[in-house]
Amino acid sequence: MSMSKEDILKIIEKENVNFFRMQFCDINGFMKNVAVPKSQIEKALDGKMMFDGSSIDGFARIHESDMYLVPDYNTFCVLPWRNKAGVAAARIICDVYKSDGTPFPGCPRVNLKRVLAEARQMGYTMNVGTEAEFFLFKLDAEGKSTTQTDDNAGYFSLDPEDTGLNCRREIIETLEKMGFEIEASHHEVAEGQHEINFKYADALTCADNTLTFKWVVKSIAKQHGLHATFMPKPIFGVNGSGMHCNQSLFNLDGTNAFADESGPLKLSEVAYQYIAGLMKNAKSFCAVTNPLVNSYKRLVAGYEAPVYIAWSASNRSALLRIPASRGIGTRVEVRCPDPACNPYLAFAMMLNAGLDGIKNKLTPAPSTDIDIFAMDAAEKDEACIAALPSCLREAMDEMIANPISKETLGDHIFEKYVFNKNKEWDSYRIAVTDWEIKHYLDIY
Ligand code: GLN
Ligand code: MG
Ligand code: MG
Ligand code: MG
Repeated sequence: MSMSKEDILKIIEKENVNFFRMQFCDINGFMKNVAVPKSQIEKALDGKMMFDGSSIDGFARIHESDMYLVPDYNTFCVLPWRNKAGVAAARIICDVYKSDGTPFPGCPRVNLKRVLAEARQMGYTMNVGTEAEFFLFKLDAEGKSTTQTDDNAGYFSLDPEDTGLNCRREIIETLEKMGFEIEASHHEVAEGQHEINFKYADALTCADNTLTFKWVVKSIAKQHGLHATFMPKPIFGVNGSGMHCNQSLFNLDGTNAFADESGPLKLSEVAYQYIAGLMKNAKSFCAVTNPLVNSYKRLVAGYEAPVYIAWSASNRSALLRIPASRGIGTRVEVRCPDPACNPYLAFAMMLNAGLDGIKNKLTPAPSTDIDIFAMDAAEKDEACIAALPSCLREAMDEMIANPISKETLGDHIFEKYVFNKNKEWDSYRIAVTDWEIKHYLDIY
């Protein structure tokens, strides 16, 4: 749906919107807000709202800090849970521009647009569908988040055990009011863990939707007295939360570039090359698709999360799975990303990884259709199956060593990202953890 400024002004009048939030995304994937009152809405819609970029992590330096927010009209929507006594609030997602009127390369959304424009030059658009899993946790007496769930339900279980159900239902209703097309929702494997699937879209829209989705989930959970978390592995010993990214390339004529009725598994040569590119660059995109120290505690054997770089049309232990649907729905499901990632950066990294395979006409290793976790080291070696990085440090080193990372993120984001993550790793590295106390204190 294409919205104009006039359409938006009409809705603002009709719905009595008095608060307007200009949203954008920082390098860490956090949604930022600048709220403007009704009197300023026209100015805001014209892209004339200025803000101080130096206070946003990874943005501008202090002496060049005046930045503009340029809204994308198609992202306008009224916030159903913010309507108080007939006075409504709305939001719009923005690109960040420099004071000289050019797009700011440090804005992850601006950067994804650049990468998508390069793909278009090659004749492709990218579609993505994300499956962001999350936990609903109880709050303690002081209102602080705990890691306690209040349900004992499991995968696809039905009420009445599923006490998160009411909350999940309201999340879905809210998203639908905001224009999301919800395809399915279910209780995930772990206690208190949920998944809600919304329809795939072009990569930019999907990144916007994924950020909005996380914000809505958190906001509605809060109203139910729960804390929703997208932390990848909040509890040791049970499944973590992934964010599978289903992706496909489309030709500019709107056909699916991965589909080929006559190809092996009904996949096109382009699909195989894209798979090969993803496999080749998997180790170096993990630092972005799996951005936290904690992300790597999810990527371990036994919890339905991938550990090894392999692909399969059937096997869910592989990094890349080809879901059964064909024709327009032909796609690759990348299973390592987690919902803590910045979707704008993660999609750019995976897209360029796949395009690298197309540019260089790579052929993937044969698919691995047996359970990789049942293979011993020699069998894995023989099948050339390598492991994903085992910690954030290893992932960062892989990312830094591969020139495609800097090309994909641009100099500004690349440098800030490396700086931030090095700091994060160092702070973790020097911390003394409960594990160490438990294992060392008494016996040494
Ligand atoms: N939670 C699992 C993960 O970490 C995925 C489980 C599933 O969707 N089947 O990726
Ligand atoms: Mg799913
Ligand atoms: Mg799932
Ligand atoms: Mg999935």
